[in-house]
Amino acid sequence: MKITTIETIYQGADSAMPALVFVRVRTDEGIHGTGDTFYLPQTCIAVVHEHIAPALLGSDPRDVEAHWRSLYQAYARFGGRGAELRALSAVDVALWDILGKSLRAPVHRLLGTAHHTVPTYNTCGGPLYASVRGGSQAGFGSSRRYGKLDDFDAFLNAPGQLARELVDEGAKGMKIWPFDRYAQEKGGRAIAAEDLAAGVAVVREIREAVGDAIDVMVDGHGLWELTPAIQIARALEPYDITWVEDLVLADKPHVLARLRAASTVPVSVSEYLVTRDAYLPILQQEAADLVMIDPTWAGGITESRKIAVLADTYGLPVTYHDCTGPFTLLAGIHLAAATPNLRYQESVRAYLRVVYPEMVTDVPEVDDGVIAVPQAPGLGTELLAGIEDRPGAEVRVTAL
Ligand SMILES: [Mg+2]
Repeated sequence: MKITTIETIYQGADSAMPALVFVRVRTDEGIHGTGDTFYLPQTCIAVVHEHIAPALLGSDPRDVEAHWRSLYQAYARFGGRGAELRALSAVDVALWDILGKSLRAPVHRLLGTAHHTVPTYNTCGGPLYASVRGGSQAGFGSSRRYGKLDDFDAFLNAPGQLARELVDEGAKGMKIWPFDRYAQEKGGRAIAAEDLAAGVAVVREIREAVGDAIDVMVDGHGLWELTPAIQIARALEPYDITWVEDLVLADKPHVLARLRAASTVPVSVSEYLVTRDAYLPILQQEAADLVMIDPTWAGGITESRKIAVLADTYGLPVTYHDCTGPFTLLAGIHLAAATPNLRYQESVRAYLRVVYPEMVTDVPEVDDGVIAVPQAPGLGTELLAGIEDRPGAEVRVTAL
């Protein structure tokens, strides 16, 4: 089997997810695979066509580890852990899709299945959450309101009501970011007492509404410096928080270690990290209670499974990140099903019900807090026919 064509499909700056790009790899045997990645899509597209396609065309797509290593070695020489690794991640997911289809097996079977059910929690973004142009928003989300399923608007303005609705439909967890707005308005160097109280009030309303019927996770998107991050974590201690994540950026393990030591709230680290080498010092310095991985940022399925093994070696559970694209979610679910030390697969119900069905043929359903594990060969979903012909879409092709 030979790779004959690598295509990038970008839905355009006015699409629901303008930071998302799809990558499709085609072969001479008629099998194709698809992946995606998120942030700086034009830069990722350039990496795919300038380097990855010329390197991979004509080679066997099933040599997944060999391709990963040769591409990684090229990028690691000059610290290429951003767009290069995201482009590599998207292509790697597409290669696993091809491998699964070629062997007529779902990807989780190739990885060695550990679980037949994958628990998920609802990240409270609305359908427009990732619609900010340029893909550079740091977590606060679009200020435009969508209406139905706008969980972003709901957690800020009616958190108790949202929590009751989620519990009623079987959700086992919800993630919110009630402090972001203050960091974005005033900077993250300090937090005012009234802002700390207002953020905590969101969590208190959830607990008052549903008690401990739902896990609550609090994200900070790396917006705070250490002192206000510690204040936030300590203020959340009475509310049985499942974890805080990215209250500070995850680039300094010793800072995270101080945050973790300063409160009893578990600390999750971090979808912003790329490759095993970024996670290792976090684990060595005991700076995390849980590990979060985004499969199409951190290095694809190939590298994510190794990060999960590394986390297991340090006794930590893994959660796979997604509010970033349907193939990221599918990659995460297959990884999750094959991760013995699994905690959660993240999902956004507004994406599952509104955004992703506009992009792909099959979106896994959530039932009673469990997300379905696809059993079709490969990843188990395809781009919708004609997606590349929609207004604003940009397709670029490099072929043998
Ligand atoms: Mg996060």
